[in-house]
This record gives sequence, C-alpha cells and structure tokens, in this order.
Amino acid sequence: MSISFSDESFDQVLTSTSLQPEDSGEVTLRPRYLNEYVGQKKAKENLEVFIEAAKLRGEPLDHVLLSGPPGLGKTTLASIIANEMGVNMRITSGPTIEKAGDLAALLTNLQPNDILFVDEIHRLNRQVEEILYPAMEDYAIDIIIGKGPSANSIRLDLPKFTLIGATTRSGQLTAPLRDRFGVVLRLELYTPEELKRIVVRSAGILGIEIEGSGAEEIARRSRGTPRIANRMLRRVRDFAQVRAGGVITREVADQALTRLEVDHLGLDALDRRMLRSIIDFYNGGPVGLDTLAATINEEAVTLEDVYEPYLLQQGFLTRTPRGRCVTQKAYEHLHIPYMGQSRMDL
Ligand code: ADP
Repeated sequence: MSISFSDESFDQVLTSTSLQPEDSGEVTLRPRYLNEYVGQKKAKENLEVFIEAAKLRGEPLDHVLLSGPPGLGKTTLASIIANEMGVNMRITSGPTIEKAGDLAALLTNLQPNDILFVDEIHRLNRQVEEILYPAMEDYAIDIIIGKGPSANSIRLDLPKFTLIGATTRSGQLTAPLRDRFGVVLRLELYTPEELKRIVVRSAGILGIEIEGSGAEEIARRSRGTPRIANRMLRRVRDFAQVRAGGVITREVADQALTRLEVDHLGLDALDRRMLRSIIDFYNGGPVGLDTLAATINEEAVTLEDVYEPYLLQQGFLTRTPRGRCVTQKAYEHLHIPYMGQSRMDL
C-alpha cells in the first residue's frame, strides 16, 4: 500500500497547536481571571490557595512552572496569575534571551512583585540559565566586571519577583532549574465537555450564533486543545455564514470540518499519515520516534510534543521501551484489517 505525502494542506494550519497568524484575535478570547478559566481543576485549585496565601503575606507568589502541550492555556494562566495578584507581567521566551546581559536587563527593570513570564524556558542557554539561579533563589544577580585575573564579581539586588516558566517539555529542563520552582503544574488535554464550554464562551464573545450540538461537534474534534477549538470555531463560522444562514448547527460544523480534512475524532492528515506509516512500513511498530519522523518527513519534536499527546490519549498509539506502536483502534479507524498483536512485539 502506498501513502501520499502530498496531503499536507490547509488543514494542518487548522489543527496546528502553535500560534498562527489567524489566531491574532486570541487576546480577546483569553480568560482574564481564574473563574473564567475552564477546566484544569487541579492546577486551578492549587493556584487559588497559593495566590491567596501570597496575597495575605503581601509577598510575591513562589516561582511557577507550567508544562503541557502547546495551546492548552499556559500563557493565559500566567496572565491570569498576574491579574489575580494585581501585578504587571513581562513576557519573554527562552530562545529570544541570547545573552546573560539580556536577562540581567529584564530582571533589573522589574518592579517589586512583578511577574517575568519565560515561554519555552527549556530553550534557555546555559549562561543565561546560570544568571537565573541566584535571581530565583536570592533575588540577586552576580555581575562580572573586568576580564582575566583582575575580574571582579559584584552582587546586585533585585526586587522580589515571580518567575513563571512555560514549557512543552518539562523533561528537558535541567535539574537545578526545575528544583528552583516552588509550584509545578502540569496542564492536561481538555475533555470534550470543557472544550464545549470554551467554544460556547468564545462564540458569545465573538457574537457567533451556535447551537449546543454544534459546539459539541467542534469540541469533540479539537484534539483536547482550546487554541484549536477557537480556531475551528472561526473557520466553521465562515462556512456557516456563506452556506448556512450564519447559525452553527451540528451538521454545519460536521460539513465544514470534514471539508477541512479533520475527521470525526479530530485527527488531521498528519495524524493519519503518522499512524499509517507505522502500519505500512513497520508492521504496526514498534518504531523509534526519530526513524518515524524521518519516514514521514517531520521533526521528531513536533511529533512528540504536538501529535503524540492526543494520539496517546485517544488510544491510537502506545509508547513502549522499543518505540511507538499503533493499537487495534488505529487499524479500525483507518479501515485497515488488523492481524493481531503478535507482530507488535510488545
Ligand atoms: P499556550 O501558552 O499553552 O500555548 P495559550 O495560553 O496561548 O496556550 O492559549 C491559547 C488560547 O486558548 C487562548 O488565547 C485562550 O483563548 C484559549 N484558552 C486556553 N486555555 C483556556 C481555558 N482554560 N479556558 C478558556 N480558554 C482557554
């Protein structure tokens, strides 16, 4: 059986979890306070207590690490923390802080109790990371003045602040950095019920008419990710306006998403290609991630961070010490005859 590599179309943008130009309206949809933030019950309950306690003590919140796949609401949660604490938030990201001096400049410009949000914190380089250790622990940075044997280190005090780090791969954080976060929260994929609430809320903000069953359809197909749910809502709205008198019903949502190549379980062309390749070329697995990535011409990081979480959660894929395997459910979903477990070599 041959597989086509040319179906990487337009729908990849639809189900991509990374920020796309069409998401520029996201800011209006962003919840501003904890009570508007749907789902993530455990993380929210913990945060409520920590925020309350910090406010009672009049101190900044302990440093927070937020991890989880893209589009689940890490940046949103960080800005909610800032709003709830009533402080300012400066936003930066791991790869944009190139030199230790860049970070020192950011830190020395903070006001007391401010939040510094560092997205993709696992991508900080070593020298920059080392500046963070004393900054997080003692609210101070060590600056080296001069060069060679006459170099001197002076310690500069910083205002007390909260660092919020966001990462899609907490496993890649170095131990000394991870250990310096007092609060570590892992965001989970959202349930269809939670996503439905997000879709209904967003439709309300955007003035889109939507039936409950239409919101359910979008929710079920947005792979556990609010960013995708909001993006699908906008696309389906276009379709509803042009073809269906403006109201999003279940049928309209279904037709629009099917046209965009998102199947009824939310899998897009790349998900299907990934599963098919494991079946066609590796007899259902196991296959190592890098080999698989090379086979389908994608980056291993993208497969691992963006595609796998949903496929694992939905039970299409399993991870074994020897690599990835597809499940019987994947064969059935792709309408490929399943020959049993033996060759999966589990
Ligand atoms: P991340 O930083 O994890 O990539 P974002 O915080 O940018 O994700 O979230 C993407 C979008 O999804 C936000 O703009 C927001 O509209 C929506 N969103 C995320 N989490 C929630 C939530 N819990 N409730 C409602 N909307 C959410």
